[in-house]
Amino acid sequence: MGIVAVFPGTFDPIHYGHIDIAQRGAAIFEKVIVAAYDKPLKQLLFSPEDRLALVRTVFDNHPKIIVTGYSGLTVDFCRQVNAKVILRGLRVFSDFEHEFRMALANHRLVPEIEVCALVTREQHTFLSSTTVREIASLGGDVSSMVPPLVQEALARRFKELGGDGQTLVPMTALRD
Ligand code: ADP
Repeated sequence: MGIVAVFPGTFDPIHYGHIDIAQRGAAIFEKVIVAAYDKPLKQLLFSPEDRLALVRTVFDNHPKIIVTGYSGLTVDFCRQVNAKVILRGLRVFSDFEHEFRMALANHRLVPEIEVCALVTREQHTFLSSTTVREIASLGGDVSSMVPPLVQEALARRFKELGGDGQTLVPMTALRD
């Protein structure tokens, strides 16, 4: 029997960087379970249901990728679904420290689960959900960063939120 990997994330929203990691993982492992955290300690733009629905639609026809939500510890979820690997993506150096810390903590909790981090593709190095949210909140073009259905969902969500949308998007350096 092949190895099952869990690819956990917030996916607020899912973008081409995430999609690339999930697809490359599916080329290595028997099955990749893309698992959206239910209630991360972050301020989110989309509800758990909306984040999950977008991820589901993106991988709808992929034979080796399964999508689900989860809550609680990632290692507990891995044990529930019999996954031996946690799949993650690495962009820039700053990701490394965070991923390293989490990998060691997860390993302490459940030593038999391994973390496998794939290095991003060059064209996705800068891409994050935060960047996507900020550009979309200001009416910028995110078509090279997210699939069309995510682009539409972003437009709908910011319209729905009106002026409140800005408060859900952290200020960085993309404005002014
Ligand atoms: P989290 O809150 O766990 O960081 P994210 O949804 O932001 O959740 O990211 C999930 C995983 O996808 C993380 O391992 C993250 O490093 C990875 N990831 C995010 N953006 C990219 C990208 N552009 N290229 C490769 N991996 C990425």
